[in-house]
Amino acid sequence: MHDSKMVNKHSVILVVLFVLNFLGIPAYQFGKYIDPVPSTCDDVAIIGAGASGSYAAWRLRHRNLKISMYEYSNRIGGRCYTVQLPGIPDVNVELGPMRFIPEDHPLMNKTAYDLGLNVIDFRIGYGPFPDSLYYLRGTHMEYNQLPVKAPYNLPAENRVDLKLLNWNVFNNFTFTDQNGILTSVDGVPLKKQSWEMYMNKFLDMETIQYIRDSSGFKSWFGPEVAAEEDIPRQYPRPKVVKTVKEGFQAFPQRMVVDFLQASAKHNFYYHSHLRSIRKNVKGDYVLKFQPTQTRNGITTDIKNLPATERCAKKVLLAIPKLGLENLDWDGLRQEKVQNYLKNSVKTVLASKIYFGYDHAWWRHIPLATTYAVSMTPLRQTYDYGISNTTFKGVLNTAYTDADTKLWKEAIKTGKFLPGFGDNHFRMTDDSVDLARKFYAEIFKMPQANVPRPTSAVLSVFDMYPIGASWYTWRPGYDWDEVETCMTKPSARDDVYIVGNIFSASGQSDWLEGGMEIVEKVIKLI
Ligand SMILES: Cc1cc2nc3c(=O)[nH]c(=O)nc-3n(C[C@H](O)[C@H](O)[C@H](O)COP(=O)(O)OP(=O)(O)OC[C@H]3O[C@@H](n4cnc5c(N)ncnc54)[C@H](O)[C@@H]3O)c2cc1C
Repeated sequence: MHDSKMVNKHSVILVVLFVLNFLGIPAYQFGKYIDPVPSTCDDVAIIGAGASGSYAAWRLRHRNLKISMYEYSNRIGGRCYTVQLPGIPDVNVELGPMRFIPEDHPLMNKTAYDLGLNVIDFRIGYGPFPDSLYYLRGTHMEYNQLPVKAPYNLPAENRVDLKLLNWNVFNNFTFTDQNGILTSVDGVPLKKQSWEMYMNKFLDMETIQYIRDSSGFKSWFGPEVAAEEDIPRQYPRPKVVKTVKEGFQAFPQRMVVDFLQASAKHNFYYHSHLRSIRKNVKGDYVLKFQPTQTRNGITTDIKNLPATERCAKKVLLAIPKLGLENLDWDGLRQEKVQNYLKNSVKTVLASKIYFGYDHAWWRHIPLATTYAVSMTPLRQTYDYGISNTTFKGVLNTAYTDADTKLWKEAIKTGKFLPGFGDNHFRMTDDSVDLARKFYAEIFKMPQANVPRPTSAVLSVFDMYPIGASWYTWRPGYDWDEVETCMTKPSARDDVYIVGNIFSASGQSDWLEGGMEIVEKVIKLI
């Protein structure tokens, strides 16, 4: 049972921290509340308060250990970032993750229930519905019409349901060898060859192009992606897709609250940028943190303040690849580790654009649909939702992992539209007009009939220290070997990497991947 005094103490601390964050004031200045110079060494220091670090803290919370969490920014969540657009209070705009599939993500599902979150159906699902709109090579058609209408010179056997085609192109040309390794019929493991190589060996150019164009995402394809990265592993069938009513950021936030409530020995520090790790003569780790500050959502080092040092017996690094690449620690300098860190996975940047409107006008156009896929730089478009209280609506105008540079360039000119107060996610009227132009093309309507939104945001997690949406495996790597090596990069150090970057189960694009690795690491703590 929780000690109620402890609960109260931590509730007060959380409220103080949230207020300080809101005001943009670095929490470390308020040592009275958060104890910046503890007399004893932490048993475990967890770096990064995204989903992975928070899950690690949550899972270790009852171990009777002195654990501290350190976060670079003023926010719990990392890529889990749930916001609301002005006047639309009950539609969670998810700048990062928004859904999970209980069948494929059992840890996320169980955690959601254990945290007391309201698990609800994710209305817009994952992937196409029969009536989803496809706009390919200038032709408009519904998903169901693709086999007949897709304007590609396809062999007759490939004019089948698109999900079935994606299944066939792997099922027809692969087998699992006696060691359980998925291999193409010419004997080459799928992890050792690129998607591009595999496709070119077994398929005609038109089918390859059709598969690329009709997919909502592009990061799974190409010469830099292992063929095994995103193959369908089961015969296509509908799967239940869920989200949580409180928004995805509630996952890490609730876990941190539980963690702090579980023991008075636990601590949480915002605005703490881990720069280096050194081992001292006692065998403990000396962690050097540079204080940071957050202004209008953008966090930077405070250069004129001295770095602070903390001590820990064990360290869990729940930070993305870019954060690791900038960390000064001997354990990451070994040749093999450097190779895996730099080369084994490719960083993918995705963009999401959300428009806020006073009414959901897009539900009344001739080609109205919940989900559209196009070859335009919007790529995927979702009818995202309507407020039950104000009846204002949110359009997820774009979700693309291909055209981030274009959208980043587009926001450089024009006047800013209202967003939610975080400058890193603002859109300008020029960029909004560009999105409206593509929207009009996809939905076969004049651009003037696509109203200007009352608010708009563009999310791209391209800034330090996150610098990625997710990662894909490059060809040529043994995923199990890389995951094992990178989870504990230095045999003589108790320093672990617990994010999902090197997920051997191929879940680097899901919270689940990080949770799986945390489960393995906590057995060693
Ligand atoms: C657009 C988009 C859509 C996605 N969709 C889904 C989805 O629907 N479902 C799903 O499951 N997943 C999805 N993902 C993937 C998912 O968001 C990530 O895999 C997951 O959030 C990663 O969590 P993490 O804690 O490992 O890393 P992060 O969320 O990146 O957290 C890392 C934290 O560490 C901090 N940090 C970094 N470096 C330092 C340092 N040196 N010192 C101190 N702190 C540091 C950062 O500030 C950050 O808070 C999506 C991602 C994006 C971007």
